[in-house]
Amino acid sequence: MADNDMDKKSATCPDCSSSQSDLCVCEGGNPPVLVVEMSETSSIGSVEILALPERKKERNGSKEVPTKELPTKVLNVDRKASQQQWNRGSVTEGKVPHTRMENGMDIEEFYIFGKVLGQGSFGMVIEATDKETGMKRAIKKVNKEKAGSSAVKLLEREVNILKSVKHEHIIHLEQVFETPKKMYLVMELCEDGELKAVLDKKGHFSENETRLIIQSLASAIAYLHNKDIVHRDLKLENIMVKSSFIDDNGEMNLNIKVSDFGLAVKKHGSRSEGMMQTTCGTPIYMAPEVINAHDYSQQCDIWSIGVMMYLLLCGEPPFMANSEEKLFEQIRKGELRFEDAIWGSVSDSGQCALFRETSQCIRNDERMEK
Ligand code: ADP
Repeated sequence: MADNDMDKKSATCPDCSSSQSDLCVCEGGNPPVLVVEMSETSSIGSVEILALPERKKERNGSKEVPTKELPTKVLNVDRKASQQQWNRGSVTEGKVPHTRMENGMDIEEFYIFGKVLGQGSFGMVIEATDKETGMKRAIKKVNKEKAGSSAVKLLEREVNILKSVKHEHIIHLEQVFETPKKMYLVMELCEDGELKAVLDKKGHFSENETRLIIQSLASAIAYLHNKDIVHRDLKLENIMVKSSFIDDNGEMNLNIKVSDFGLAVKKHGSRSEGMMQTTCGTPIYMAPEVINAHDYSQQCDIWSIGVMMYLLLCGEPPFMANSEEKLFEQIRKGELRFEDAIWGSVSDSGQCALFRETSQCIRNDERMEK
């Protein structure tokens, strides 16, 4: 009698009341499901689809079923969204699929992992090849448990911001995989690494090379600011180089991508008209108003672009000191030095572009005040 009861119980799922195991959508006892959310690039954090796109292939060595041929079941969708069922081969332009799964190993059904590209604050970034397209990607793997809940909140904010942007000079988030313990961000691969490393190898860039880099950077930042997004941690280490070539004039042309949106915020007009007060960023790139924790806005990113421009042109930071306190003092003073011989090859307009950001500059022993 008892056995019969148990049989009945196992035939009907207690959580979703389905009597057929293949229609059961809860997690208890049944194979884990993939849940895919699609985010539109136009709005942060919007969830368009909750779907069961495909049944995973059998893991125990039995026959593998090509995922594309399997039926898609839509759980909770509106009419519009249901027309955009997800499969690996037809990701809608401008949308970032967010796939929730039970086991991180499942990602290996889609990607072959290769070398480690770098170690970040919360996990490593690994090169991976998409099995279907052969395209190389960079996958950031974050252990949510190790990172802790506040870091996970920041990561979620970063992911939401990345989902909402699409620009040729901003790192593209292709896809997100998430398990209860881990988060995998699949990004476009920047094979030439960080701009900082390219600069260190080269010493400094010519004015023309710098102009091209700053043009790309400015276009990306203008795009973000138009969307009320402030990056707040612009520095050479966060500018990735996707590819580069030397042109006919022997000058280096870099295809750069702004990355690392860990400190980025979306401003909300209502709070003091979108002003922020948190002191954050990396000291040598920090604007005076950020150091002072005064109300500041997106202009802090423009200051950091100026610091990067100075660094690219001469290889040294504009403000240097042996303590943070002295460094901040220099930044507040905003005194720029153009004394090094390298500045002899930089045009007046190049120097003026930097000078415009600060209050004064020192050039070949002559002091200029604005
Ligand atoms: P952090 O946590 O310090 O901000 P990330 O986790 O974003 O750093 O990245 C760690 C390292 O991985 C970076 O320093 C960079 O060298 C490398 N990396 C990150 N994203 C990419 C990418 N899209 N392509 C190539 N390398 C990358």
